[in-house]
This record gives sequence, structure tokens and C-alpha cells, in this order.
Amino acid sequence: MDTSTDFALPPVTLRIGGQARSVGVGIHEHINPATGQPDALVPLAGAAEVDEAVHAAHRAFTHWRATPAGTRAKALLKLAQLVEEHTEEFAALAIADNGIARASANATVAAAVEWIRYYGGWADKLPLGRITSAVGAGGSFGHTLRQPYGVIGAIITWNAPLMSLAMKVPAALAAGNTVVVKPSELTPFSAMLFADLISEAGIPAGVFNVIPGGAEAGAALVEHPLVKKVTFTGGPETARKITSACAQTFKPVLLELGGKSANLIFADADLEAAAMHSTYMAFGVMSGQACALPTRLLVQESIYDAFVAKVGAIAASFKVGNPQEPDTICGPVINQGAIDRIDSMVKRAQEQGARLVTGGQRLEGDLAGGFYYPPTVLADVNPDSELAQKEVFGPVLAIIRFSDEAEALAIANGTDYGLSGSIWTGDARRAIRLAEALETGEVAVNGAAIAVAERPFGGIGHSGNGNEGGLEGLEEFFWTKSVAYGNG
Ligand code: NAD
Repeated sequence: MDTSTDFALPPVTLRIGGQARSVGVGIHEHINPATGQPDALVPLAGAAEVDEAVHAAHRAFTHWRATPAGTRAKALLKLAQLVEEHTEEFAALAIADNGIARASANATVAAAVEWIRYYGGWADKLPLGRITSAVGAGGSFGHTLRQPYGVIGAIITWNAPLMSLAMKVPAALAAGNTVVVKPSELTPFSAMLFADLISEAGIPAGVFNVIPGGAEAGAALVEHPLVKKVTFTGGPETARKITSACAQTFKPVLLELGGKSANLIFADADLEAAAMHSTYMAFGVMSGQACALPTRLLVQESIYDAFVAKVGAIAASFKVGNPQEPDTICGPVINQGAIDRIDSMVKRAQEQGARLVTGGQRLEGDLAGGFYYPPTVLADVNPDSELAQKEVFGPVLAIIRFSDEAEALAIANGTDYGLSGSIWTGDARRAIRLAEALETGEVAVNGAAIAVAERPFGGIGHSGNGNEGGLEGLEEFFWTKSVAYGNG
């Protein structure tokens, strides 16, 4: 398969204090998920490189926090403009990073621009604090000060590197912090161009540093005493390790983890729109490799059979293949490990009584070299089974039947996760009732967009804690000091 472009991959380097370095403690061979072939060597940072990067960020903090807010705002807005101007390159890098289909890649860059612009807009309008007590009889004047932490350690995963950078870095910088980012070694390319543009935007050396690496680099970053807060996007096992490490020094940590988000389809909904949107969201967004996707489809009994058939037909119509082609909806999944995990979960679900509607087998033929798994729909899934309870992080949709609103709610809330939830109904009162009752960080009614900059996004339970997006996402990067003035 020809997945080539006229675009040359940038060399992957460590970016420390404005300097590019190509030597770390090891090398990772990047595999193009579309072909299964190696296409780049990624230097891996170790503890020494992490230490250097953190010190560079620590040195830069004194100057960056004192930089006038208007200057910080201007630089971040310039960064948004530069990222937008490099849309084509970022889309190509996203495809090279993880094989995301071109249409999704373009949409991701546009969303990233919005996030950077949104936090650039906050940088000179920061909510700096509030008056806590006025001078009165016997009283004293008091106020709060919002303080940047210093060096933020950001650890991101492989599914949407530019988006993860845009969700974390501009908010942290707007608040006056400096950042060391550890991208996944599986997807290092987007962060290279991002680092170039940070410097072109006039953000001083050391304010933003990138250390591609694996678990060793991540652990060193989390444990570094000069890292004052950690923001992490990834899976629950790693989150446990990071939380334990942070607990040793009571370091705050923001966790954006996985989900098994329920999508409730009631008989009174616009069923055409619900079927198309629900199916696209489950598969068309990064081949199902995103945290907040509606991967548990709960369908009301009276429309169940027809709706399952419709979803199955739409899923089967999605083109899977070369991510470079504009009509491809699903590109490959990230690697062979993902294929094995996805396939074994699909097979176990069938053993546990789920009915395969479409998909369910790795794609061969022209696609045999890459990591292609088709949109897979499983119906009649038991709400207590593994497929209903565990995140697959791949193109697999579990459909579950319910009879009434109470049962739908019980099933929806019946997992350890709490990231996202969706409701499709023509009944506004039901939508309001369920929006309150769903135990998730966000709720979308009748097809709302996800990951929008001005809205806080974050989970509860095994989906994590804290927020990215909105004012809440900015506040994650401040601590609050209370100041009082006596009368003496
Ligand atoms: P992962 O937890 O294996 O890896 C995530 C990152 O942590 C990588 O950069 C990895 O190198 C690093 N890491 C690994 N071990 C570490 C350690 N001991 N200390 C510090 N860092 C370490 O996650 P994954 O499997 O690559 O990503 C998939 C998961 O990410 C899914 O669960 C998905 O739902 C979640 N995710 C969540 C969001 C969100 O915003 N909520 C977004 C995207 C993905």
C-alpha cells in the first residue's frame, strides 16, 4: 500500500532549554501503523535528560511568571495562528504518528487551534484572586492570590498527541508555569513541530521542553522534586503508579484516563441522526481509540432490533484503509499489541454470549501489513460482561438492550468509569433528569460535540480527576494563597 506523502518526517530529538539533542538512553524504532514498517528512530530520554529538562524549565520559570500577561497572551495567540498555518503539516504528522485517517487528522488540528487560542485569550484576563474580607470594625483586609506552580510535568499518550499538547500546555503557560512534556515514544512527531512553533511564537527557551521517552522517563519526571504538579493522560495502571509516586511528596496530579461511555437511545429520539452520529463517534474518531467515545450503546427495547441493524449497516459501510485517502473513515490501530488486545476481547465477548453483527476479524489482503481492524459491532452484550465493563480502546461497539429509563440509568452508571455520557431523546424533561443523574464528567444531549475548549472535560472514578478545558482547566494550573493585612 502506498501511504507515502511528499512530506518528510522531521528528525525526532529531545528539546531541552531550546536546544535539540539526539542522544538519550536508548532508541525506539517507530513503526508506521498503516504499513507495519519501521520509518524513524526515536531517541529516548532517561533520568539524566529529564533532570536537565526540568532544570531548564525551572530556570525559565522566574522570567516567564514575571512576563507581562499581555506578552504571554500575544505569544500564545501567535502560536495558535502558527499551528493553524501549519494545518497540512500537522495533519501529515498526525497520520505518521499513529495512522489516524486524514479527515480526523484535519479536524484534530482545527480543534487544537481552538484550544490554544482559547487559553491565549485567558492569559491577559486571568482570574487573579478575590477579596476575602474588607477593612471593617476590628477586621482586616484580605485577598487571595492565584500562584503558578512552577514546573508542570505533562505525560501524554499516543492517540492524539497534538490535541493532548493543546489541552495541557497553553493553559499551563497562560497561568505562568513552565512545562516539560513527555510524549509517548510511539508518537513523537507532532511534538517536534509544536516545539518549533512555540519558539517561533516568541516563547522563551526553557518555558516548553519535550523529552520523548518511555516509562523510565515518565517516572523520572513524576518523581523530580522540581516538578510541582503532574498532568497525565493515559491508562489506569500507569495512573496508579503515578498517583503512588506523587503521594510520596503530596504532589498534586491531574488524571485524564479512560472510559466506557454509555450512549442512551430512547424510542422517542431522532433515530436517523442518533444512528449515524453514534456509529460515527464509535469508529470514525481515531478508529475508536479515544477516551470519551460512546462505546456502550444502550438501546430501548421497542426499537432495539431495527436500531442494531441500522448501526451494523452504517458501521459496515465505513471505509477502512489507507489513512492518506480522503474518504477513509477508519485508519489502522496503533500496533500489533492493540490488534491482539482488541481481537481477544471481541472473541471473549462472543464466548460470553454477545452476538457479532459486523466486523470481528483483522483485515488481511492489501491491508495485511498494517494494523487494521474493522468497525466491530456486538449486540446483546451482558451489562456485567468484560466488554461492557472494560475499555477496549479500539473500533468495537457494545450494544445493550434496556426496557425503561430506570434500567438505562442503572446500566449506564454500572461501571467503574465516569468520563462521558450521551442521551438521545425527544423528551426535554428526560434529558434534564438524566443529565443530572448520569455519573460522568460530561453529558452530551442529542449529539453535542466533544472536547470543546470552553467546556471543562474530565472524569470521575476510574476515569480520573480534574479538568481540561474552560476556566476549570486554567484553574488546575494555579494554587491559591490567602493574604491578610493586620491593623498594626
Ligand atoms: P499508558 O498509561 O500506557 O501510557 C500513557 C503515558 O504514560 C505514555 O507516555 C507512557 O510512556 C507513560 N508512562 C508509562 N509508564 C509510566 C510510569 N511508570 N510513570 C510515568 N509515565 C509512564 O496509556 P496508553 O495505553 O498509552 O493510552 C491509552 C489510555 O489513555 C486509554 O485508557 C485512554 O482512555 C486514555 N486516554 C485518556 C484521555 C483523556 O483525556 N481522558 C485521552 C486519551 C487517552
